[in-house]
Amino acid sequence: MCSIIGYLGDGSAAPILVKGLKRMEYRGYDSVGVATISGNHITLRKGVGKVAEVNNAIKLDMLLGSVGIGHTRWATHGGVTETNAHPHPSSSGEVAIVHNGIIDNFEELKKELQQKGYVFKSETDSEVIANLLQHNFDQTKDVKKSMIQTVSSLKGNYAFVAVFEDGTLTAARFHEPLIIGVGKNGYFISSDVLGFIEHTDEVIYPDNREFIIINLNGIQFFDFDGNPVQHQITKVSKELADVYKGDYAHFTLKEISEQPDTILKAGESTRMELDLTTEFVKHAKNLYLTGSGTSYNAALVAKHIFSKYAKIKIESIISSEVAHSPNNFDQQSILIALSQSGESADVLEAVKIAQKEGAKIISIVNIMTSSLVQSSSISIGLNCGPEIGVAATKSFTAQLSILYKIADKLCGGCIGLDLDKVSTCVTKILSDQTKVQDIARNLKTISDIYVLGRGIHYAIASEASLKLKELTYIHAEGLPGGELKHGPLALMDSNVFVIIINPNDSTYVDTLASAHQIKARGAKIIGISDKPNEVYDYWIEIPEINEALFPLIEIIPIQLLAYYAALEKDTDPDYPRNLAKSVTVK
Ligand code: GLU
Repeated sequence: MCSIIGYLGDGSAAPILVKGLKRMEYRGYDSVGVATISGNHITLRKGVGKVAEVNNAIKLDMLLGSVGIGHTRWATHGGVTETNAHPHPSSSGEVAIVHNGIIDNFEELKKELQQKGYVFKSETDSEVIANLLQHNFDQTKDVKKSMIQTVSSLKGNYAFVAVFEDGTLTAARFHEPLIIGVGKNGYFISSDVLGFIEHTDEVIYPDNREFIIINLNGIQFFDFDGNPVQHQITKVSKELADVYKGDYAHFTLKEISEQPDTILKAGESTRMELDLTTEFVKHAKNLYLTGSGTSYNAALVAKHIFSKYAKIKIESIISSEVAHSPNNFDQQSILIALSQSGESADVLEAVKIAQKEGAKIISIVNIMTSSLVQSSSISIGLNCGPEIGVAATKSFTAQLSILYKIADKLCGGCIGLDLDKVSTCVTKILSDQTKVQDIARNLKTISDIYVLGRGIHYAIASEASLKLKELTYIHAEGLPGGELKHGPLALMDSNVFVIIINPNDSTYVDTLASAHQIKARGAKIIGISDKPNEVYDYWIEIPEINEALFPLIEIIPIQLLAYYAALEKDTDPDYPRNLAKSVTVK
């Protein structure tokens, strides 16, 4: 969601913090701020907008000092204002904090602190951490004791970093990500390794319920009761540093274009785990798939191929619905959790619920150091490299690629999975984008798009409509073809565009009939198919392929269409409004 960052070292803190925040922009945010220690005082600058804009206006990176903290905020409590932006100082200004997450009991703590004379300026839940820490420090004059007391009072989910006037840096982690970078000349604290990867690839992953104290004497880790904890340093892949757009105008376009390669690489770094998963799935009594957003749509595709080809029943549940849906999780159940970041709070919560009943967790995930991986018995890596664009593209096809591999193994190759062929088809679709660009121009002023598909293509229609919503802010809806006449046909008129996903397979004839019904009501039809037809006002050609594999390629032109329509509408395809890459709040 938001990003937090801290630094203590020989260098100048502010430019390091600002650069780190820029690297983590993909996580989504609405405002930004930095605080540093200079001359035993905390100085602080913050504002609403993108890191570069705010930095241009108020020069966050000119703050002096070699200790500091920074934040990009994704507002949960209180409007998007300069006052609500982090860092938040305590009322005496001797401590300042940045926080990721939600403090559930902030109102009660705030009241208690106000009665003791502490003053609050913002509407956020986070400010309570600053005054609580200050209060506990006022009482104990001891940083460690004040951290123990503070974390014992806080309820909710959080990772926070605090600076004290004397130059001490502290941080705590409770169900939100927090990673330590150990550099030659300093320490980094960050929500994501991208925050410091250009300075060091040596990292420590604190466990949940731990806090950290860093000062000129070094770094110490403690559990929430104050017992010292030892950690190993791990090396992370430098490939993570590869988060530049290169020649592409946007990360989203770069990531769409990487798919011929990422579809092939998916799961390759964890082949043994893939084989093991197939064995486990074969013998499980109850099988479930879960994910949020795009990952859930991948689960829907998987449900279809597992049952159609491998004859295995698997239930797909939206992660945030797991707590509310009847299920039979037990020791012979497997929950396959899908996530790009591995930090999505809804997915982690679903995993927790299943685990409590003894279910085995298998994750399919891009970030192999994430909380989801730590909670899983087996993890298969998407292996598709950093995905920065908030709207998932290459991670979706990587998830599908892995799920197809599992299904194909389960049925002894009955799918005829040929990923080289898939990759070639995707390359072909990407090789000429002019048609899609032309069609995108027509979407500039429209307010509704429907995406229609039958059978497995309905799952892709759902993903297509999600992409259009995220990137263009146009209302979009996926429709199962047969349902048209049971309601949605009432919405069809000349102001509407309908994308028909219609490869020449067993769904072709029925879907074509739906296209005619829509056309008769005046709506414009965009046909995605390997076969032309006069009913399409616009035809986007996809190559012919084995019927089972169409989903892997038919999503590509729609990703492109959503991207180019976003450019037409002048929205930011990489960072859609109100959305975040890694949704770490419930
Ligand atoms: N709940 C805090 C706020 O609204 C932090 C949100 C975040 O994680 O960015 O300020």
